[in-house]
Amino acid sequence: MNQSDTPVENVVIVGSGPAGWTAAIYAARAALNPLVFPGRATGKDLMPGGQLMLTTEVENYPGFPDGVMGPDMMQTFFQQAMRFGTRVVSDDGVQGQDDASGGLYMPYQNVKKVDLSQRPFHIVGDGGYECRAHALVVATGAKANWLGLDNEQRLAQSGGGVSACAVCDGALPMFRDKELAVVGGGDSAVEEATYLTKFASKVYMIHRRDKLRASKIMADRALNNPKIEMVWNSVVVDVLGDDMIEAIRIRDTQDGNERDMAVGGLFLAIGHTPITGFLNGQVEADDKGYLVLKDTYRSTTSVEGVFAAGDVADSTYRQAVTAAGMGCKAAIDAERWLAEQGIA
Ligand code: NAP
Repeated sequence: MNQSDTPVENVVIVGSGPAGWTAAIYAARAALNPLVFPGRATGKDLMPGGQLMLTTEVENYPGFPDGVMGPDMMQTFFQQAMRFGTRVVSDDGVQGQDDASGGLYMPYQNVKKVDLSQRPFHIVGDGGYECRAHALVVATGAKANWLGLDNEQRLAQSGGGVSACAVCDGALPMFRDKELAVVGGGDSAVEEATYLTKFASKVYMIHRRDKLRASKIMADRALNNPKIEMVWNSVVVDVLGDDMIEAIRIRDTQDGNERDMAVGGLFLAIGHTPITGFLNGQVEADDKGYLVLKDTYRSTTSVEGVFAAGDVADSTYRQAVTAAGMGCKAAIDAERWLAEQGIA
């Protein structure tokens, strides 16, 4: 399609986790008629609803005193955004509230590539939909890194005691007074292990080397915690258990010996990867790939008219509630910027 034939949107939002939907709610209520590319359920990167679709119960999001299942919460975000006139891009084209009755479980499009070299920006979906946009909100999130073991994925998806977020899941009753394992040796691993000691009877930190990567103050915190036991030079090679994790199989990286260790939960803390491939380096990122905000308190990026929200621009907090707050900021920043440009 010739670029000049493509529809021109006020604001396109890429991503549909807490940041994306909150940006959509604010943009829709500001009469900007936002268009969201929610992501593709079969994709490995951006998926409709974001990372909360992979968690079970969320107990730390304000407003849900009895907790809420992650996917259910994202469905409510979706409904709230659609109610105010947000549109989504599916394989059937652009859909509004009445068409998108399948909620988050529809064949939505991800963004394949963007051209930010001139405005309106050109955006191409992975299902072929193309449009242009005066403003772009990038809310694609960061995916937690996993070990990639079959049983790890199976139990993570079924709520069987494997998680990549201790702060999200660690307080669940299933982990109380259990011996738990955390994989990783960075600040996140220490933070997660320390957090888990509030509930667990004991926490093993499984690290592939014999020295923590974490900052000294954090490392000391773990090393001096009587409930944390370091398991050095070890990697997890399998996760055992049918419906619920029962043990992990670990391999000693020095002598290659394997042994099974009984645990009631496994938490991965081996880093996150921000989802920015479709930007192809057009927006400034830091050395870990997180988008750089021009002003820490706002959502502006290195490209005028491109705003970032949520985990894709936040390596520090990575919480649903902080992502939602950033989505709000991005929509307000976009709204003000569009008004300054005399566009909307
Ligand atoms: P990170 O610093 O990249 O650490 C990742 C850890 O996972 C490393 O110890 C690494 O081992 C290990 N690892 C990576 N891939 C692995 C694999 N396939 N198998 C086994 N182990 C693996 O990530 P992070 O801890 O998430 O921290 C990210 C950033 O956020 C850092 O800059 C950190 O300082 C910051 N952060 C700060 C705080 C805080 O200050 N409160 C809290 C959390 C995070 P190696 O050490 O061998 O590479």
